[in-house]
Amino acid sequence: MRLFIVSNRLPFTVTEKEGKIGFERSAGGLITGISDYLNSLKDSSFTKIEYIWTGWPGVAISKNLQDEVKQRCLSEFSAYPIFISHKNMENFYHGFCNKTIWPLFHCFPANTVYDEDFWDSYKQINEDFLEAIVNILKPDDILWIHDYHLMLLPKLVRERMPEVTTGFFLHIPFPPYDIFRLLPNAWRIEILEGLLGADLIGFHTIEYTQNFLRCVLRIMGHDNNIGEINTGDRILKADTFPMGINFEKFFAAQDNIQIQDEIESLKKHFGGIKTILSVDRLDYTKGILNRLEGYELFLEKNPNWHKKVAMLLIVVPSRIGVESYAKTKNKIDEIVGKINGRFGDIGWTPIQYQYKNLPFEQLTALYILSDIALITPLRDGMNLIAKEYVSTKRDKKGVLILSEMAGAAKELAEAIIINPNHKGEIARALEEAVEMSCQEQVRRNEIMQKRLSDYNVIRWAGDFIQELMDMIEKRKRFAVKLLSFSEEQVLLRDFKNAQSRIIFLDYDGTLMPFTKEPQDAKPNEKIIELLKLINEYPQTKIIITSGRDKETLTNWFERLNIWLIAEHGVWIKEKDLSWQLTKQLSNDWKPRLLPLLKMYVDRLPCSFIEEKEFSLVWHYRASDPELGSLRAKELMDDLTSLTANIDLQILPGSKVIEIRNSGINKGVAASYLLAKDEYDFVLAIGDDWTDEDLFKVLPQKAYSVKVGIGSSYARYNLRNYKEVVKLLKEMVE
Ligand code: UDP
Repeated sequence: MRLFIVSNRLPFTVTEKEGKIGFERSAGGLITGISDYLNSLKDSSFTKIEYIWTGWPGVAISKNLQDEVKQRCLSEFSAYPIFISHKNMENFYHGFCNKTIWPLFHCFPANTVYDEDFWDSYKQINEDFLEAIVNILKPDDILWIHDYHLMLLPKLVRERMPEVTTGFFLHIPFPPYDIFRLLPNAWRIEILEGLLGADLIGFHTIEYTQNFLRCVLRIMGHDNNIGEINTGDRILKADTFPMGINFEKFFAAQDNIQIQDEIESLKKHFGGIKTILSVDRLDYTKGILNRLEGYELFLEKNPNWHKKVAMLLIVVPSRIGVESYAKTKNKIDEIVGKINGRFGDIGWTPIQYQYKNLPFEQLTALYILSDIALITPLRDGMNLIAKEYVSTKRDKKGVLILSEMAGAAKELAEAIIINPNHKGEIARALEEAVEMSCQEQVRRNEIMQKRLSDYNVIRWAGDFIQELMDMIEKRKRFAVKLLSFSEEQVLLRDFKNAQSRIIFLDYDGTLMPFTKEPQDAKPNEKIIELLKLINEYPQTKIIITSGRDKETLTNWFERLNIWLIAEHGVWIKEKDLSWQLTKQLSNDWKPRLLPLLKMYVDRLPCSFIEEKEFSLVWHYRASDPELGSLRAKELMDDLTSLTANIDLQILPGSKVIEIRNSGINKGVAASYLLAKDEYDFVLAIGDDWTDEDLFKVLPQKAYSVKVGIGSSYARYNLRNYKEVVKLLKEMVE
């Protein structure tokens, strides 16, 4: 197996000086995390995974040097550079990525720019990446695409090389629906379609995963089952994988002599005062200004701490040339000057400010030395600095103050968690931090360190890859497989030779076509005759497994005396017996949901409500298809949030949405019947999602048939109900 990583940037920047090529390591959470994982693969004696990393090398390379760069990247780094001109990169990276997606996905709509040229470049560069990688991508590679720069790429790859297994990971937040929808309609659809091309889409927190799933439901109309999305022809998954760090590397940092020297010189400088560390890339999302205001308020309210604390403010240059970043930098300079002027004197500078990128050794020395880390992003996908700070504390002393808006806050709940928008909260957190007892610090850090060492970056990537591999199996099971002539002959032979047979048949769409009014789909004489023949075939049980209510099924099939399952598994009627419930159910929820469904009937002409004993169904087959599908998505969304705490399932079907109690489905009812006897021929045929529950529980040797050309857990597909009737006739005639 080969792991094929694609990210916007390679883990190094290529430099070109006087025609000579050099390589400089790039920094950043994504790069460091993936590099640590890949290094662990090299060191592991168990797993033999080859890898290749493709991406942009950080600068435009002259044509005459490109071959040499390519060759050295491959031989020295197992990397494959994608060359992009400076001009194209400008509109793509500084434009769409950093002026549209970055602000919007971090919930800064006021900073978001909507520019058609930026969007065109974004599409173009995603296509350029495709063209570059298809030359070297092999069908059995595991492709792992990273981050918001390449959200269209999964679909592009799927169209060109459908057999490749693709994972995608978003390293920034995925915004709530109300923010995502601010993108023009065509863009948001293309972005979601792009992402849905992957087999597995990963996010840092459950909140981002849910935001994404809600957008997929409202905009694309695809519902999910615990993150599993069925697009009609494929199945894929969205799931949460909080990115970890290389815990061991940070925990062991104190043994590094260079780091020890750094700490010694820092101690000389700061000996005797409490140090508050603040490190971030220069970015308006990081909340540096709020933090400074919070610190100012702390100094104002606590004169007793003057000369006894100092903030070490490290701002790492980033996205130089982007106007909003330059503005943030000016404001930081201004407020630092103001605070130092207001409170400082010759012997004490309240803020020690550096505008530069620190190498690992210097940064880690600062982590180890600092008594407090003050991390207050207004919004941050994860925030690795917070995790790194806690991990370096071998003596477990140190206080982390962390914004609730950082993904990392979900895992680091023992930190002092604050709302970064309130300087009062920041000042109060600082008061708590400077006074916190050593015992309490140790208690908190011990718990956080345990968590960070258990779920480190290697586990994070390993889990993602494992789940991606599981999706390969699911995809195989779910692919369309038309029943061939020879397979049909084997089925017929097995049927004839069997000693004991059981046949599950769905009704609507399987034995009869759909009609505008449900009651018009009454079985005709031909169908009744066919079912009678099957029922009379020796040692054969036939079960109609329908979503219809039990009265309708009784009216239609009573004279046949066959087995019946009504309301998708709520009721069972065995031959010669009366109807019985499969599980005790409650109807208390019905009066609460009926008004909502009635409102949707008013909003969509020709839609109506069907009330069954234990479920409610909203039908819209006869309505205008476009408006119907729009309203259906809205209703799904309303129902999903309204029923979050009730034991109900919301099931979108063929032009219907059904609401019923959980824990009931055709699969549960069928398992009950299958367990009652031994069968050496099992056949199940059905056309929609409710039949998937049945297909999943059948014994391995069973025949299962999906009606229609959709993906399914069934072993085979038949095109339509006519082919089903033909097959059944061939069995018994
Ligand atoms: N980092 C670094 N030098 C610095 C500051 C930060 O190498 O001067 C690294 C830091 O160790 C961390 C990453 O950059 O791994 C920052 O990741 P984070 O998720 O905190 O923020 P991002 O910049 O990705 O938004």
